[in-house]
Amino acid sequence: MICTCIVENHRQREEGNIIYPVYSRRSGGLSVGVNLFPDKKRCNFDCPYCEVFPFERDAGFDIETMKSGLEKVLAAAGAQNNAVKDICFSGNGEPTLSPCFPAALEAAALIRQVRAPQAELVVITNGTGLLRDETFDLLREAASGPMALDIWLKLDAGTGFWYKAIDRSAVPFERLTGKIRDFARIAPVTIQTMLCTVNQSPPSRDEAAAWLSLALELAGTGNIRKFQIYGKARPAPLDPLASALPVSFLEERAAALREALETAGLTAAVEVYP
Ligand code: SF4
Repeated sequence: MICTCIVENHRQREEGNIIYPVYSRRSGGLSVGVNLFPDKKRCNFDCPYCEVFPFERDAGFDIETMKSGLEKVLAAAGAQNNAVKDICFSGNGEPTLSPCFPAALEAAALIRQVRAPQAELVVITNGTGLLRDETFDLLREAASGPMALDIWLKLDAGTGFWYKAIDRSAVPFERLTGKIRDFARIAPVTIQTMLCTVNQSPPSRDEAAAWLSLALELAGTGNIRKFQIYGKARPAPLDPLASALPVSFLEERAAALREALETAGLTAAVEVYP
């Protein structure tokens, strides 16, 4: 199903749309989503704040439908003088788990070149694809080469304890952060961190200190495009297991990171999306 109407939520994604244009607060404008999982959610994290509600549909991902849908949406946006900020792989799960991801990424890059060369190409990932060599290499080449893929990489925790609470994955924390370190040494990434309560508890001071230390270490590679600290803004199926924190909490964490970056002589933008 292809829909060219632009909305401010992600309902189209859960209605089985492969392409879904939305106004995105993080992109600061029109973002065209690419959903590799129109039939059901697939993810190896189980974040309590995840916004994907349970659903199941018959039609799976089809690359020809994706290509024609992307062409159509970008043409419609162009005809309305609606500048597309980005084409973003996110959808109902972890994009790198899809066997169609490499071909879909290449197709999206080619279509962008013709229809919306100003648009960023973005993938939102929990980083577990970096544990597979072929995906690690694909993302490295895409981020460092002419495609200039902007990888929005999830880093919700600085400790294994908080990682278990907020991401609830079987992937070991140390293994994952080790690969994130390896990747940041050789390719640019944007780091995304969700701050919310889990079971009424906010991340502890020890967790905040560990996250800050890891964030600084990553910034020291010189490859962090920016840090995005964001809050829980939309309903989730597991509500109220995860809840929003006050904006001041997010701002304090951002201020601590900015100060630490400055003290260390490092530069990276730190943005807050409550
Ligand atoms: S990684 Fe993303 S898709 Fe997966 S559970 Fe977490 S928020 Fe949901």
